[in-house]
Amino acid sequence: MWRPRTLEDELLERQAVAAPARMMAGFTAETETTEEPPAAPPVDVTRRVPCACGRLCPPFELVDVRSLPPEVRGDREYMCCACRRRLFRRGIITESEFIAMLGGPADVVAWHRAAEERKRREKENQRFGRKPIPATREP
Ligand SMILES: [Zn+2]
Repeated sequence: MWRPRTLEDELLERQAVAAPARMMAGFTAETETTEEPPAAPPVDVTRRVPCACGRLCPPFELVDVRSLPPEVRGDREYMCCACRRRLFRRGIITESEFIAMLGGPADVVAWHRAAEERKRREKENQRFGRKPIPATREP
């Protein structure tokens, strides 16, 4: 199943990049010097970090939104689920558009678009007092 890139992915990637350098430092220290290699602390992906809204979130919840246009994300690089929901609720962007901009696969985008369309029709039917038409295909 597709999921957007998060701060956790970023932290794990940074750690993977740093790891070979640490190994090299350890090797040199053992064979040539008695100096302790500067050990980079391992990344703790369970440590909560503040979102720009102030919520403390685990890194896997903070979605990388750098591929969104600035008029949608402002100067934000990551967004927690509350910040994302706020975007959808205010109609700044739909969830399907959001997923498409983050590089989500076409079928996931289509699923969300169909769900949004169904919700829109249901609202319209309620407004006009129509009975809901059963969906022929559940998105
Ligand atoms: Zn937030």
